[in-house]
Amino acid sequence: MTVRPILTIGSPLLRVRSEPVPVDEIGGDSTRQLIEDLVDSMRAANGAGLAANQIGVTRRVVVMEVEDNPRYPYKPRIPLTVAINPVVEILDTDLVAINEGCLSVPLRGDVPRSLHVRVQYLDGDGVHHDDEVRGLTAATWQHECDHLDGVLITDRADPSSFTTWEEFEVHHRAAFLDRLASVGVVAEP
Ligand code: ZN
Repeated sequence: MTVRPILTIGSPLLRVRSEPVPVDEIGGDSTRQLIEDLVDSMRAANGAGLAANQIGVTRRVVVMEVEDNPRYPYKPRIPLTVAINPVVEILDTDLVAINEGCLSVPLRGDVPRSLHVRVQYLDGDGVHHDDEVRGLTAATWQHECDHLDGVLITDRADPSSFTTWEEFEVHHRAAFLDRLASVGVVAEP
């Protein structure tokens, strides 16, 4: 188990457009090690997802997982997902302001996201997936894939929406959950 330090905003590697993983490297030792480190580091930090450049590797690999997550108690579960060279296609262009945090940014903010996307990717065994994803999980996919293009929530969020985690809990969480309910998104209580 290797928990690697997560880079924070200001690190130039978070601004790099990451390179695709060559198909013949999928299943190889270095890609398997990268995936293991991503999963270990995401779990240690209670993240919902982590992109490879957040631990300093500019390859197009993200991992996602939501169980009982103390950082995001309202997020629906996501089984452990490894996505190599992922592509996100927006299917619903009506965007909703989703309040997001990021392990690389110390604030939360409202980011306009589509709640219905198509994702295509290879898993850790090189198997191709082509799925439609809805709700908050669709936003998580967009967040993680933004990292692969060097994009952070600070680029997309309404600047007046930024809060600390503590102030979000006290002043904004209830309104955010109401907003989700109003667009028919099921969130955990
Ligand atoms: Zn992030």
